[in-house]
Amino acid sequence: MAYKLTKGKYRVSCKHPGCTFDHEFTLTQTIMGMTEEDVESEAKKFARDMARVKHDAIHGAKHTLTNPTVRKISGVYEAVGAQSSVLKRQSDAVRYQEYKKGDKILNKGDLATTVCEVVKGSASVDRANAQPYKPGESFGAAALLVNQVRTADVIALEDGTMIAFYNLKELNKKDPRKAKELYSEAMEDMFSVIQTLESTVSDLETELEKAKIASENRKARVAELEELLLKYEKQIEEINGRDSFK
Ligand SMILES: [Zn+2]
Repeated sequence: MAYKLTKGKYRVSCKHPGCTFDHEFTLTQTIMGMTEEDVESEAKKFARDMARVKHDAIHGAKHTLTNPTVRKISGVYEAVGAQSSVLKRQSDAVRYQEYKKGDKILNKGDLATTVCEVVKGSASVDRANAQPYKPGESFGAAALLVNQVRTADVIALEDGTMIAFYNLKELNKKDPRKAKELYSEAMEDMFSVIQTLESTVSDLETELEKAKIASENRKARVAELEELLLKYEKQIEEINGRDSFK
């Protein structure tokens, strides 16, 4: 059996320090191969070649396309002359969806079954000062490892934000390297969540310490005032006593 890929769309970026080259390439030709992996690596080669030509036209005088990352954005595999279960398997492992600015990508409390990766645009947790997730960055993985539900709303920050949803279990069967990469990103993601929590706890402890000191100071002041009040009351009594004595 053979496989083909039609309308494959890939994004290629250059990793030369400071280079901003990051473009999408649509493969006009249909790529064929004996396995999906063959098709994928062949398609990536085409995308890389297209990127090299464009990159060298822009930056060629300075440097050539360096350690390019080639990321699939869309395109479907089809088994040539056979069943469509391949299509289903493909969509089991990864699904792509595009969003407009402000659209909700993840809902807090929803069951977590996938890891998300920004393909295009950006997204962030729906709260002030949240770090934006940029292309190539993943999110939503901590939930898979910890409590199985989404812990926060995540929204798209711009129109045309494209998110890939990976099913790690299915992906591991098809593309173990990508699954492993996402898994280690997930661990980093979780560590950063833990770090944030730890720093919040430490901030709270500092606040509490300050409040305690302030409260101790107030107590001391109250005691001081009470003592002063007693002293005055005593003096008043003494004066009153003298008066009635006369
Ligand atoms: Zn470059």
